Order: sequence, then structure tokens, then C-alpha cells
Amino acid sequence: MASCVEQVSLETVAFMELAVHQATLAMDSLEVPVGCVIVEDGEVIASGRNRTTETRNATRHAEMEAIDVLLEKWKQNGLSEAEVANKFSKCTLYVTCEPCIMCAAALSILGIKEVYYGCANDKFGGCGSILSLHLSSSEPLISGGVPRQKGFKCTGGIMASEAVSLLRSFYEQGNPNAPKPHRPPVQKI
Ligand SMILES: [Zn+2]
Repeated sequence: MASCVEQVSLETVAFMELAVHQATLAMDSLEVPVGCVIVEDGEVIASGRNRTTETRNATRHAEMEAIDVLLEKWKQNGLSEAEVANKFSKCTLYVTCEPCIMCAAALSILGIKEVYYGCANDKFGGCGSILSLHLSSSEPLISGGVPRQKGFKCTGGIMASEAVSLLRSFYEQGNPNAPKPHRPPVQKI
């Protein structure tokens, strides 16, 4: 399991609020409401929200969107592979739902410093629920530059109720593709 903190800093909550805002934007676009921000030195440097429906691509999770914003930006700035790795090692991700196995593996390979998430992802969670990729202990890079997985600090349960209620209202009401709820038959008296 990822560790759960009893005392959450105001800064952590403030960044998670921004992630929740991204999730709300996803909800408004009829996407599964998951959002995230990536922070470096106390500053948001990228944000992302789930765009799987819009892109018709099941891998376009919030984390992937934010990671790609950074990779594109750093590529344009001419950063080398080592410099990109160094940048990621200073970044913290705030995401409303526990990263899935795919995203947790990507974060691990990129060597992110730390992750804070809201609610657990019971079906696909890669940070304690199904797999614990954040506990990976390999070195981030072996000689030759082949990426290896690296562990990262991971804390769950930040604003979890907000994250869950967004997901719940999406699946209960907001998803046009969801099966219609069964209504109890009208009783004739
Ligand atoms: Zn994911």
C-alpha cells in the first residue's frame, strides 16, 4: 500500500485542488473525470485530464497528457535525455485517482520524484492496489541509457472524497454510454 499521511500540507491540498479542477474539466467534456498537475519547485509546469473519449485512444490518461506536455516542451528546448531525466527527478505529480499500472510504469521509468493521489484505483491501480510499481528498486538508468524502473514516494487519500464523488456522479449520471439504471416497477395499488 502507498502510505497515507495524517497531516497533509496546505501546499499538497492546493495542488490537489488544481488536479480536481482538471478532473472537473474532463467531466464537462463527458470524459471519465480524472485530472492531474505536475509540479517542479513549487510551480505547476504541466496539467492534464483524461481525454480517452475525445481522442478515441484508451491510453490518453491524465498523467500521459501531462507527461507529453513536458516531453514536448523539453524537446523543443533542446534538452538531452539525461537532462530530461534530471528534470523528472525533481517533479511531483498530483492526480485525483491512483495511477493505473500503465501510468505508474511510465512514471517509474521516467523517474518521477513523488506522487500524491486522491482515491484508490481498485481495478487497475499501479501504486498499491493491484501492483506496487512505486516500490521498484532498480536504478533509473543503467550505463548505455536504457531506461529502468525506479521507485517513487507515493501518498494516497488526498481529497479522496472529492475524487470519488466526481467519478461516482460520472458513472451514475454523466456517462451517456453507461447502461440505463433499472427503475423498480411501478406498483399498482
Ligand atoms: Zn493511467
